[in-house]
Amino acid sequence: MKQRLSAPSDVIDLAKIPGLDAITQADDVLQIGAMATHAKVTASSLVQEHCAALASLAGGIGDRQVRNRGTIGGSLANNDPAADYPAAVLGLNAEIVTDRRTITAEAFFKAMFETALEPDEIIQAVHFPQVEQAVYLKFPNPASRYAMVGVMLTRTAGEVRVAITGAAASVFRAAAFEEALTSDFRISAIDAVTLSAETLNADMHASAEYRAHLCKVLIKRGVEALSA
Ligand SMILES: Cc1cc2nc3c(=O)[nH]c(=O)nc-3n(C[C@H](O)[C@H](O)[C@H](O)COP(=O)(O)OP(=O)(O)OC[C@H]3O[C@@H](n4cnc5c(N)ncnc54)[C@H](O)[C@@H]3O)c2cc1C
Repeated sequence: MKQRLSAPSDVIDLAKIPGLDAITQADDVLQIGAMATHAKVTASSLVQEHCAALASLAGGIGDRQVRNRGTIGGSLANNDPAADYPAAVLGLNAEIVTDRRTITAEAFFKAMFETALEPDEIIQAVHFPQVEQAVYLKFPNPASRYAMVGVMLTRTAGEVRVAITGAAASVFRAAAFEEALTSDFRISAIDAVTLSAETLNADMHASAEYRAHLCKVLIKRGVEALSA
C-alpha cells in the first residue's frame, strides 16, 4: 500500500485469529502459522531444531522492528523479488496451506509480486519437511537488509536443491548447479558451471553480471559450509 501497488477499499486484520501464528511439529513436518512473525520464527526452539538455517534466515530479515511486525504469510503472499522466505520455501521444498488447498512451492511463486493465490485466498500455514542439511547465505543490501542475492542450499537423500532470491524477478532454482552438486558435492564440481546474467535483475545496487557472480560465490560458500 505504501508503494502504491494496491489501494484496497477495506483492510482486514488477521492478527487476532486464534492459532494463526502457531508453530508446531508433527511427523517430521514443521508447521509455521501464517501470522508467525519473523521474530517468533527465529526464536522458536522447534524451528531451530527442525532447521537451523530457517531460524537463522528469519533472524536476518530487515531489522528488529521489521522482524517484530512482518509475518511469514505476508512475506510469501507479497513475493517481493528480494525477500528471504521464498528461497526457504522453494529450497526446503515446503508447501503452502491455504483456506482451500495445499500449494507446492514450485507452483506458488509466479512472477514479481505475483503468486498462485486467488484474490480472496488466505494462507493459513507453511509446512516444512525435514531435510538432512541446509544453509542460507545472504548478501544483504546494507540499507534495507533485503537480499541482493540470497541462496538456500539443501541436501536430502543425495538430492541437492539451490533456490535463489534477490537475483531475478522471482525466486528460482539453479538447475545446472543442482545437477552438478547432486552428482558430486564438491566446490570443484561447479567450477565450470555458470549462471546466465541475461534474465537477472540490474538496478542501482548491482548489475546483472555482478548478481550472477554473487550467486556462484554464495553457492560455493554454501557447499563449503555443508561439507565442514
Ligand atoms: C525496511 C524494511 C526492510 C525489510 N527487509 C526485509 C528483508 O531483509 N527480507 C525480507 O524477506 N523481507 C524484508 N522486509 C519485508 C517484511 O519482512 C515483511 O514480510 C513484508 O513487508 C510484508 O509485511 P507483513 O508480513 O506484515 O504483510 P502485510 O504487509 O500485512 O501483507 C503483505 C501482502 O500479503 C497479503 N497477506 C498478508 N498475510 C496474508 C495471508 N495470511 N494470506 C494471504 N495474503 C496475506 C496482504 O493482503 C498484502 O497484500 C522488509 C520490510 C521493510 C519495511
